[in-house]
Amino acid sequence: MPPIDTGKNELKTRIQELIDTNQVIVFSKSYCPYCVKVKDLFKELKVECKVVELDLIEDGTNYQEMLLEMTGQKTVPNVFISKTHVGGCDKTLQAHKDGSLQQLLNGENEAYDYDLIVIGGGSGGLACSKEAANLGKKVMVLDYVVPTPKGTTWGLGGTCVNVGCIPKKLMHQTAMLATAMQDARKFGWEFDETVKHNWETMKTAVNNYIGSLNWGYRVALRDKNVNYVNAYAEFIEPHKIKATNKRGKETFYTAAKFVLATGERPRYLGIPGDKEYCITSDDLFSLPYCPGKTLVIGASYVALECGGFLAGLGLDVTVMVRSILLRGFDQDMANRAGEHMEEHGVKFLRKYVPTKIEELEAGTPGRLKVTAKSTESDEVIEGEYNTVLIAVGRDACTDKIGLDKTGVKVNPKNGKIPVNDEEQTNVPHIYAIGDILEGKWELTPVAIQAGKLLARRLYGGSTVKCDYINVPTTVFTPLEYGSCGLSEEKAIELYGQDNIEVYHSLFWPLEFTVPGRDNNRCYGKLICNRLDNDRVIGFHYLGPNAGEVTQGFGAAMKCGATKEQLDGTIGIHPTCAEIFTTLDVTKSSG
Ligand code: FAD
Ligand code: NAP
Repeated sequence: MPPIDTGKNELKTRIQELIDTNQVIVFSKSYCPYCVKVKDLFKELKVECKVVELDLIEDGTNYQEMLLEMTGQKTVPNVFISKTHVGGCDKTLQAHKDGSLQQLLNGENEAYDYDLIVIGGGSGGLACSKEAANLGKKVMVLDYVVPTPKGTTWGLGGTCVNVGCIPKKLMHQTAMLATAMQDARKFGWEFDETVKHNWETMKTAVNNYIGSLNWGYRVALRDKNVNYVNAYAEFIEPHKIKATNKRGKETFYTAAKFVLATGERPRYLGIPGDKEYCITSDDLFSLPYCPGKTLVIGASYVALECGGFLAGLGLDVTVMVRSILLRGFDQDMANRAGEHMEEHGVKFLRKYVPTKIEELEAGTPGRLKVTAKSTESDEVIEGEYNTVLIAVGRDACTDKIGLDKTGVKVNPKNGKIPVNDEEQTNVPHIYAIGDILEGKWELTPVAIQAGKLLARRLYGGSTVKCDYINVPTTVFTPLEYGSCGLSEEKAIELYGQDNIEVYHSLFWPLEFTVPGRDNNRCYGKLICNRLDNDRVIGFHYLGPNAGEVTQGFGAAMKCGATKEQLDGTIGIHPTCAEIFTTLDVTKSSG
């Protein structure tokens, strides 16, 4: 008997030969109705196809195992056309519908430089391109950072790594350490009164770490045989892009399929002085000097997180709010997070919008004069700051990538791309993932999951789709806010006030008691659907380590957790998360 590996290798070679020597090959089972559908399709198309009935051959089970190894697909039918793995019944019928099956039959696929070109090497693009290459495809990923008006630029990896989650969380951690140091004294630590923070040291350490991540991504792409090109991509034909590198050199590439993963960039205000004198989050994390007295304009994630950590570093911070805090989030929670910031020294200028920014003095930082007007009256106010950070939302990078040459539809109001539940645009060979999607979460793990699953569906025979429901998230404000599922407002809108029950409690983390701070400022809230067995439809937590706490409850909600099941869960004492196993006060009880 040959050694197991030799036997396996022989079988692999035999299967590969079948794939290479038949224009169409269907691995099938004679009794399977889906296989019959696919075989009928090829009959209808009058295309000759080789059929291997795995239930009728001696080592059919081994074939099936090997096909799983080669394609990630165990089920039958398993279809290959012109050496390309198409997938199962659904995929084959879909390929017939979108025209790609005919292209494969015509041998058009071989005319392209790549099986897949991914535009954008951020969270989604990298995940998708690496997975597609894992599945044996010839893949290119293009990533290019257009410098900010201040000239800031960065390496491979997209927003999260360079100007988003990673530097943000590290700087939030820097601020948390200041609180920890204050607490430490109450626990008996004795140290010099003159504790100072050095912006440059923090900035350099954070950016060195980012540099190591940039390098790691390049190595990972090389290891996986993904061709990475540092150039700006733009469609010139539906299957062809122009790539322009930073020296202006143009190169052209074609592919059978494309994934758009170009992400978003900060929006400016369109008022005098904004681009000249203000910075955005794209500049903040690598700012070479301490920003000093700072005005943050905007009141969402980016604004509150950045304002929060800057204040935590000891800076004088004001947040200018146009309307409400954290639009889209549970407003009860958003206001509690805001109140905590206010109690810890962050100033809020509510119901104002800036109208003009002027430079009073150049420098690092300089001095800026901000003029703003009330949204409720004619009142005009002025203020002086060292730095103005604009955080008023982000625009999808879809307007300069030649989508008009492809016919891909874009929502003209916000530049977002509508896709079906398989991330496919209206043009069948072009897909989109991540922040540029219309109506989806703008979060790194969402972009990664969508990218990975898309590659598996395109090239691995998978049918698993990205589930955008009950995505847990955390806002890293000084008192962190984690949530999953519906806000109270949304739950009332969807189910009606009478059909939901809200369980809630304030709490005081044990760690805060000895330092004597933030007594009863933390808060837990569960929103349950009375019509569905008191199933938890909204989870909200304001307190330390919100991301760590929320992640597990996100998993519980994915499993359909009910209030009764949480009540039956024994808590871990003494923790903050245990509050969710003992909640018994309802809002309706008054
Ligand atoms: P990106 O990561 O933005 O990648 C797109 C890439 O494509 C970029 O490198 C871009 O330069 C490149 N590109 C664009 N156009 C072209 C072109 N034509 N040719 C070549 N390359 C191009 N999410 C979380 O989950 N947790 C957090 O804590 C968190 N914090 C954040 C903090 C801040 C300050 C910001 C701004 C965002 C934060 N996010 C966070 C959101 C997260 O960063 C994004 O959801 C995520 O990066 C989106 O991934 P993406 O692949 O869609 O796009
Ligand atoms: P955003 O959610 O779109 O919020 C924009 C904010 O700017 C709102 O407060 C808005 O106020 C305000 N605004 C808009 N135009 C304004 C104007 N002309 N003048 C004054 N204020 C104005 O934007 P974002 O904070 O940049 O976040 C973008 C996305 O990144 C988020 O959706 C999120 O998914 C992701 N993100 C995630 C994390 C995390 O996971 N922790 C962190 C950061 C970002 P109104 O309410 O009045 O419109």
